[in-house]
Amino acid sequence: MYPRSFHYHRAASLKEAAALLSQLGDDARPLAGGQSLIPLMKLRLASPAHLVDLNFIPGTAYIKEDGDALRFGAMTRHAEIEGSDLARRIPILHDCAAGIADVQVRNRGTIGGSVAEADPSGDWAVALATLHCEIGCIGSNGERSVALGDFITDAYTTVLEPGELVKEIKVRVPAKGSGGAYLAYKRAAPVYASASAAVQLTMDGDVCKDVAIALGCVGLTAIRAKDAEAALHGQAIAGKTVTIAMEAVRAAADPQADMRGSAEYKRALVAALVKRAVEIAVRRARGEQVEVGPIYA
Ligand SMILES: Cc1cc2nc3c(=O)[nH]c(=O)nc-3n(C[C@H](O)[C@H](O)[C@H](O)COP(=O)(O)OP(=O)(O)OC[C@H]3O[C@@H](n4cnc5c(N)ncnc54)[C@H](O)[C@@H]3O)c2cc1C
Repeated sequence: MYPRSFHYHRAASLKEAAALLSQLGDDARPLAGGQSLIPLMKLRLASPAHLVDLNFIPGTAYIKEDGDALRFGAMTRHAEIEGSDLARRIPILHDCAAGIADVQVRNRGTIGGSVAEADPSGDWAVALATLHCEIGCIGSNGERSVALGDFITDAYTTVLEPGELVKEIKVRVPAKGSGGAYLAYKRAAPVYASASAAVQLTMDGDVCKDVAIALGCVGLTAIRAKDAEAALHGQAIAGKTVTIAMEAVRAAADPQADMRGSAEYKRALVAALVKRAVEIAVRRARGEQVEVGPIYA
């Protein structure tokens, strides 16, 4: 289907884009990679009268080291993150970028568009939820920084004000002795995951000193499995401790039955993904190189 006709605006800076969006009001949307917005427009599930294109704004696609953090410009494509040696300093980010859809989508889709879209099945919000992550925003009233946990408030809903844009995503590089893994279970490459799991932990010998666990596609937003984290915290990761943590993961998940499976199936699936991600995260924390990719049905 063709989208409704719309006016096209090419912004020269994020400031100009924000001003234009504020001026044009509710019927205007920013266009990043178009990998969510354009399909929705073709299905006429979204019919904005104005598109403000961010693609020609210089200096919005970058991966930079900044002290103990990495900064990702909003227009950085998934493929650029997948191919970046700098981003590999946080292996969970590489896992996530490399597993999104297929190469065409990864070449166009952006990290900024993904967090702004807040799709409950999206990958970025889940992986980023296990890290110390701030979303830099720019609007006509200036700039602000919002913790990811406060940024996405519901399915497809963020705290962005009308006309406000995601400018960058800032992620703290985890401490030495840390490891993480992001695993997604998919029916095929160019579809969203049936369930996904992100685990980021820090080990002190055999004992888990710190851990964050996030679940994807089993709720309206990424879910932090706090009881599962508590079960692992301060413990050696083995045997009964892991069983208790997986029970807590099943309880934390709040999935909907759909064509990807029943709610009970998704609970079991996400627990199995967390278990596997914990194993990989521990191996990485010990300095092992472990390659991770999406798991296909
Ligand atoms: C076939 C297919 C399969 C896919 N599979 C997956 C998958 O497995 N996992 C996954 O995570 N994603 C998947 N996607 C989505 C893809 O990752 C997109 O990159 C992502 O959803 C949106 O990024 P975008 O840059 O294309 O944004 P766009 O589609 O351009 O924009 C998305 C929304 O965010 C708004 N927006 C964009 N940029 C900004 C900004 N800087 N500030 C504020 N608002 C902004 C837009 O107005 C729009 O509402 C898939 C897409 C397709 C087409």
